[in-house]
Amino acid sequence: MTEKTVKKFISGIPAVDGAGVHLVRVLGHDTVYDFDPFLMLDSFDSTDPRDYVAGFPKHPHRGIETVTYLISGEIDHEDSLGNKGKILSGQSQWMTAGSGILHQEMPRPADRMLGVQLWINLPRKDKMTEPKYFDITGDMIGKMIMDNATVRVISGNYEGVTGVSPHHVQATFLDVELNKGSSISLYTKPEDNTFIFLIEGDAIVHGKTIREKTAVLFGKGDRVAVSAPEGKKSRFLFLSAEPLNEPISWGGPIVMNTEEELRYAFEELRYGGFIKHAPV
Ligand code: FE
Repeated sequence: MTEKTVKKFISGIPAVDGAGVHLVRVLGHDTVYDFDPFLMLDSFDSTDPRDYVAGFPKHPHRGIETVTYLISGEIDHEDSLGNKGKILSGQSQWMTAGSGILHQEMPRPADRMLGVQLWINLPRKDKMTEPKYFDITGDMIGKMIMDNATVRVISGNYEGVTGVSPHHVQATFLDVELNKGSSISLYTKPEDNTFIFLIEGDAIVHGKTIREKTAVLFGKGDRVAVSAPEGKKSRFLFLSAEPLNEPISWGGPIVMNTEEELRYAFEELRYGGFIKHAPV
């Protein structure tokens, strides 16, 4: 077993998106090939509802999956075909946009909104798959409480504790709460692209203190080790998946393989025909 090297640190940058949602953008256009198949990561952390209640009114998606995970908070979700749902504290929604969806995501006021939205690319063969929702409730998330840490398994598995199996890219998604000054080792497939995102508190990786809201991308190896600073807790998200190694053509909420496909998607949005299937 070899500890993975660190390839890159990405500090989140404050940004405003949707109708005026203050968030921290961590991954985006500049990181797509390094983090393949993870396209985008937005982090939400606010105790002031004015930072987020404007939400994300009706907008399209095609060619990706959006994974929303809330440690705390509440988001109302609705699509143009009348599907409605809520994402609550401790839950996740894995939405396959596939061939196309028009939806809105509206956070509700809460004591604290703490969570992320991650975009996972769809492989070329699945870009135009039927859209679908995968609502992951608390009881579907595996949980392992140990002396050093509590690990929640949203997808994939950790030491035999399982979460859901994704429909497309087989990403492992863990939420790891490290107790004060504790350490953890997590195993990954050597061929995977693996990163962690420090959602709450600093952490130590390869002897270096990494600040909250930073992503750490790992290189070669099959194990990552993370420690909480002396006397402090640390919470991070762990993501790992095999890269797609396909060309990426990204325009706003639509991510295809070629410029042609992207142009076609925007033409369909403008002139009709964007929605191919009713989501299930
Ligand atoms: Fe969206």
